[in-house]
Amino acid sequence: MHFRDLGRQYQNLKTDINKNISKVLSDANYINGSQVIELENQLAEYVGVKHCISCANGTDALLLALMAWNIGEGDAVFIPDFTFFATGEVVECVNAMPVFVDVDKQTFNMDAKSLEEQIIRINEEGKYSPKAVICVDLFGLPADYDSIKKITRKYNLLLLEDGAQGFGGQVGEQKACSFGDIGTTSFFPAKPLGCYGDGGAIFTNNDEWCDLLNSYKVHGKGSDKYNNIRIGMNSRLDTLQAAVLLVKLKAFRDIEIVNINRIAEKYNKSLHNKVSIPLVPKNYTSSYAQYTLTLNDKKQRDSLQRELKLKGIPSMILSKTASFTKSFSR
Ligand SMILES: *Cc1c(COP(=O)(O)O)cnc(C)c1O
Repeated sequence: MHFRDLGRQYQNLKTDINKNISKVLSDANYINGSQVIELENQLAEYVGVKHCISCANGTDALLLALMAWNIGEGDAVFIPDFTFFATGEVVECVNAMPVFVDVDKQTFNMDAKSLEEQIIRINEEGKYSPKAVICVDLFGLPADYDSIKKITRKYNLLLLEDGAQGFGGQVGEQKACSFGDIGTTSFFPAKPLGCYGDGGAIFTNNDEWCDLLNSYKVHGKGSDKYNNIRIGMNSRLDTLQAAVLLVKLKAFRDIEIVNINRIAEKYNKSLHNKVSIPLVPKNYTSSYAQYTLTLNDKKQRDSLQRELKLKGIPSMILSKTASFTKSFSR
């Protein structure tokens, strides 16, 4: 058994994926082929936002958003203290200060009350000016955006949704990656929607930021790529990856997201009276980037992991990285 059986998924989609890959190879459109624009259009439509800007990976997607917002030295960016390293790393990359916010014990997503406490603390200290919040949709579950947005509005902060694990999740009918002023995702193979290498995307309704993002991702280009008007980076999505994603997005949308939720429901039914199962609040849909259980103590956790290993079922221990990450902060 695998966490995500990508080999088997490929067998199911092989005909279409091979056809799409062959076309890129025979057309020799390796960079900025028509498949990239086609994918961006389909992703924007699926997520329900005006613009999708594809890029090289989910980390660059976050970094590009911070660059478009001109966040840098002296700025504070609030991030959850339980997330993948990249969420905090990008804040350091632009020389801003990451400020850690507690997560909710049941959903593991950013806690709005703790966010407000941290904003007040930073304002009182007066050393950094609060600019943005990066909110993560951990394990596939969208964060509590109703509560988070009340705070970002109250303190006039930009909201960046890190939907690297959240793609396909929903609150009501609204899709993940559409909750922030900018939303981002990753197409790393093991994410809910993965490609066959690295890939990422940025979502926004804002025309001006869309133009800036398209410039920053191609060496700060102006009217053409040899007219460089700002310092940017090289962060395009390969045409090959876009060609793969066109097939995988269709399967994800039409079949996989339903199947994943059906299997999670099956797990929930058999496990709910034995261990603590993932909480998906009413009206929320998770895309289950990971199916996570909370156990009573180390003893129960280790013995369960031993049992799973004997049966060939993969498992992983996830622990808070806050203390580790904090040691990097200035
Ligand atoms: C995977 C991940 C990223 C980074 O995505 P890459 O495509 O690997 O760069 C960022 N944030 C979170 C929460 C992630 O899980």
